[in-house]
Formats: sequence, structure tokens, C-alpha cells
Amino acid sequence: MIEVTRHDIVIVGGGAAGLRAAIAACEVDPAASIALVSKVYPMRSHTVSAEGGAAAVARDDDNFEMHGYDTVKGSDFLGDQDVIKYFVEQAPRELTLLEHWGCPWSRNEDGTVATRAFGGMSTKRTWYATDKVGFHMLHALFQHSLRFDNIVRYDEHFATKLLVDGGVVRGVAALDVRTGVVRVVLGRAVIMATGGAGKIFPFTTNGNIKTGDGMALAYRAGVALKDMEFVQYHPTGLPGTGILITEATRGEGGYVINSEGERFLATRDYGVGTKAELGPRDMISRAIIQEIEAGRGFSGPYGEYVHLDLRHLGEEKIVARLPMVREISKIYIGVDPVHEPIPIRPVVHYMMGGIDTDITTATSLPGLYAAGEVASASLNGSNRLGSNSLTECLVFGASAGRNAMAFAKGSSEGSEDALRREGEEEAARIVALRGKQKGGEKLSRIRSDLHQTMESGCGVYRMQETMDETARTVAQLRGRYADIALEDSSTVFNTELIAALEMGNMLDVAEAVANSAASRNESRGAHTRRDAPNRDDQNFLYHTLCHFDPAGPRLGKKDVTLGHWEPEERKY
Ligand SMILES: Cc1cc2nc3c(=O)[nH]c(=O)nc-3n(C[C@H](O)[C@H](O)[C@H](O)COP(=O)(O)OP(=O)(O)OC[C@H]3O[C@@H](n4cnc5c(N)ncnc54)[C@H](O)[C@@H]3O)c2cc1C
Repeated sequence: MIEVTRHDIVIVGGGAAGLRAAIAACEVDPAASIALVSKVYPMRSHTVSAEGGAAAVARDDDNFEMHGYDTVKGSDFLGDQDVIKYFVEQAPRELTLLEHWGCPWSRNEDGTVATRAFGGMSTKRTWYATDKVGFHMLHALFQHSLRFDNIVRYDEHFATKLLVDGGVVRGVAALDVRTGVVRVVLGRAVIMATGGAGKIFPFTTNGNIKTGDGMALAYRAGVALKDMEFVQYHPTGLPGTGILITEATRGEGGYVINSEGERFLATRDYGVGTKAELGPRDMISRAIIQEIEAGRGFSGPYGEYVHLDLRHLGEEKIVARLPMVREISKIYIGVDPVHEPIPIRPVVHYMMGGIDTDITTATSLPGLYAAGEVASASLNGSNRLGSNSLTECLVFGASAGRNAMAFAKGSSEGSEDALRREGEEEAARIVALRGKQKGGEKLSRIRSDLHQTMESGCGVYRMQETMDETARTVAQLRGRYADIALEDSSTVFNTELIAALEMGNMLDVAEAVANSAASRNESRGAHTRRDAPNRDDQNFLYHTLCHFDPAGPRLGKKDVTLGHWEPEERKY
């Protein structure tokens, strides 16, 4: 049984990017009907857990040129320079708008917006609301979205397929998790805003819902995934859980210390220069791994780690600026950072790659737009600077909302019969999967094998042989996935079915990551090869494209937009 509903545009994702897109679409046309499909209640999106802040030029000692240069250098010159320029120019307006909608940015004594230092940024340009930035931003966006009656929410609806008719995307099929009904949600344009895919790795800061669904949906519909080899490790996660200790700790002056009590980022040559703890994430993650490999780490029940020391900041500053860090450390690891250093190690955090879009957020599939972590407009290149992502969600979310509305205006509805049939086929696939008894494979085994191979082949340091091995293993896992057996045939909140659908998506995303990685024979940003340690602009200054093919992925290339900043050696 399927149900068909019709709107002007359909947005998949209720995080920062999706909500910002919805609001922008309403601003374009207050009478338009905007569907907002989200697999969880919007306030539970991963955006809510962001801690440290959002970047935009705010101070007199800062300007767009500086923010742009920091971003392109952070990207190891793989960011598209027109996209970067557009981003830095739109950023202050977006963060100010958010304040008007209720986001309580922390203030300086004189009442101006307070900004903190962040890795790779040459001045203090990260706006914050203590260390609960994502919560406040998402709350402001969600509350503001409630003012628009024309946003029709499909909460707890899991989108499983893009519906395409006549070469144009016309909507999505989505499973209502609460009832088991499959809905065909139609619109004349679709925006993907489904966030990242950290859960393809075992050790991540990402919430369980970050399974790369939107990437996989677009990939299977024929849109390339771009720059998927670039996976960001955040240097400071808690061993065991992977819970994030925000970069704001270093922005506020925290030290990273080895087992000999040495501030190695300041004393040894890890390429971060005088920035020390405020170097970019890729470099600091590599430095920590090297310290551990040199025997200067600590050993614990969850492997090796180093220390993040905040004691010299004092209790007053920690309570005022980093209350959540203290709370998290006490609860999850039994350490009060006022009195003891926090154990930390690098942890998978963010996907630089995603659905290939142009500067307007449009994809190669007419009518499909993408924004936020799911997309790659090529702002972040091969390494994102901390605090650019939240702002990216706003800048490109807003752009997606406006551009999708413009597309929808000039587009037809497509054949409802054909779309209904597509929806019925998708519903049949889901019904067949639900409680599918026949099969010799367990979901949990596939998940642990996927995790193991992704960590071994696509970790902080990589080698051709292990990347190739991972690509082969993921291909085998896809075969095994076809043979899974499930136990729960109920229609109401069938979480096993959701996990199975997510696993299918994770395998597609992992395939793109492993194959893209194996094809890049150089080190750039977060893609670091022991067997090819240098950047090679002569041969590899391009974006990797990965196209879906049932016989195995096809790789392609896309030019990097240069023209303003000349690529140079990346040294701090
Ligand atoms: C712990 C943590 C801290 C961070 N801190 C910062 C920070 O301080 N500064 C910064 O700039 N960045 C930070 N980041 C990164 C940043 O928060 C994210 O990149 C950003 O919030 C992503 O927003 P989004 O809107 O793209 O996706 P998300 O917020 O992840 O939202 C995705 C939405 O898509 C929906 N969805 C997904 N799949 C489906 C499906 N199949 N069907 C229907 N709906 C679906 C979900 O329900 C959700 O509503 C942090 C990330 C983490 C994990």
C-alpha cells in the first residue's frame, strides 16, 4: 500500500542545511508547499551535537580575503575558489540572520559578538554560544521554521529512493517508520540535506543516524559522488566512545601533551609551525598518530592515546566557555578537566566529499539539489577547517532553497502514473526485505566487517595495498548483503528494517570512499599515503568523481576552479 502526496519542492533532511533550505524556499514563495522529510524528528539531527562554533568574518582585523585564503589553504588547494569566495561573502549575513531568529551568540564585554580561535584560521572568527553551538543553531532554525504553515513535515520518514521520470527528479519514496506505509512524496524539485556518513567507520564522533543515505540515493540515481577519499579525522575524540571534545578547547588555549609531558605540536616539526595546537585537523591527527607510533602515547583499555590538557585555563574559564566539555569528560570518562588532562585520540568526524554539485547546489540530475555535509560543492577540498561546516549548511542550504524553487517554477509535474508505479516497486522491495527470513548473513557481521576494513584501508595513514584490499572487501560485502536474513516482520517502528536499509546505503558510500582513495596516488589534506607522501599538483590537482555502476564503480575527474589563489606548499 502506498500513499501519494504532492508539493512544490521536497527537502530530505531536517538538520541545519534542510531547515535553512526550507525557510529560504518559503521566503521565495510564501504560498508554495514545501515537504520536509526527515528520518528523525528535526531536533535530533546531528547538527544538534555541534559544539565549537561557526565561522564568519566579524572583527575589524579580519576580511573575506583572509577567510578565503585560510579555507583554500586548509583544503590543500582542492577547494573551488569561486565557491570559497561566495561562501565567505555570504557567511556573516547568515550568522546575523540566525541571531535575528533567536540564536544566542556569546558576546564580548562591549556587546559585540564574541569569536574564538579555531584550527587553521588566521584570526578569531568562530562565533559561538558557549560550547553548545549546534543545539542553539538548530533550535533557532527549527523554531523559525514553525512560523511557516506551508512547511509540511514528514517526521520519522525514511527516504529510500529518488523518483525520476523523463530524466528529471520528481520526488522521493519514503517509509513512514511509525506505520510501515510507503509514501510517494512528489515535488518538482528535490533537495538532499541528509548529512554525513561517519558510521561507515567503527570509531566516530557521528551519531548512529549518519549512514550516508542521501549520498547513496543520489549515487544510485546516477549522480557522481565527489572527492570521497577525503575523510576527516578530528584529533580529539574520547577513546572508547569516540565522543567529540571540541576544537574550541584548543581555541581557548588547551595543550596536547605526550606521555613525556611534552607539548609536541609546539616542539617538534609537524608542519603546523607556530600555530601548534591551532594547526589544521589533518596535520594534528597525523602528529598524534606519529607520537603514539614513536612510543610516546599512553596505553588504556581502549587503545593508545595522548592527553588534552586544559588545567592551566582555570575553572572559571572552563565553566564559562567549555561547560559541555567538562560535563562530557566527567560523565563519559570520569575525568574533570579542571584537575586532570583528558585522554584523546583521532576519530572519524566529517566527510569532505559528497554529492557532486556546482556552486548553485545543482547536481547533474535536473531538479536535484544538495547542501550541507551530504554535498560537495567543493568548499572543503581535501580538508575542512573546523567551524566552516555549520556556516556551509546555512549558506548553501539557503542557496539550495532558492534555486530549487526557481527550478520548480519552470518544471512540470511528470507522469503521476509512472511515479506511482515506481513508488509501488519500491514499496514491494521494502516489504520483501522486512522480516526477510531466507538468507545466511547477519547484519551485525556485515557491519563489523565493514568497520574493520574501512579502518584498515582508509584510516589516517593509507597504502595502495590496503586500500585495494578494502575496495575488494567492500565489493564482497555487497554480495553478502544481498543474502541477509532479518527477524522482525512488524510494520511499526521496525528498527531492524531501518538498519538494513542503512547498511545498503553505507556499503554504497564505502565503495565510493575506498575506490576513490585507491585511485589517488599522492598525499593531499586528509588523504595521506605512506607510499606517496607528497602532494602532486602535476598529476592530481583534480576532483575525483565516482559513478555508480552495477558492475562496480566508475571513476572520473573534474577540474578544480582556480584563478584567485595560486597553489603553494601548505606550511603553517
Ligand atoms: C559531534 C560533532 C560536533 C561538530 N561540531 C561542529 C562545529 O562546532 N562547527 C562546525 O562547523 N561543524 C561541526 N560539526 C559538523 C557539522 O555539525 C555537520 O557537518 C552539520 O551539522 C551537518 O548538518 P546537515 O544539515 O548537513 O546534516 P545533519 O544535521 O546530520 O542532518 C541530517 C538530516 O537528514 C535526515 N536524514 C538522513 N537520512 C535520511 C533519510 N534516509 N530519509 C530522511 N531523512 C534523512 C536526518 O533525519 C537529519 O534531519 C560537528 C559534527 C559533529 C558530529
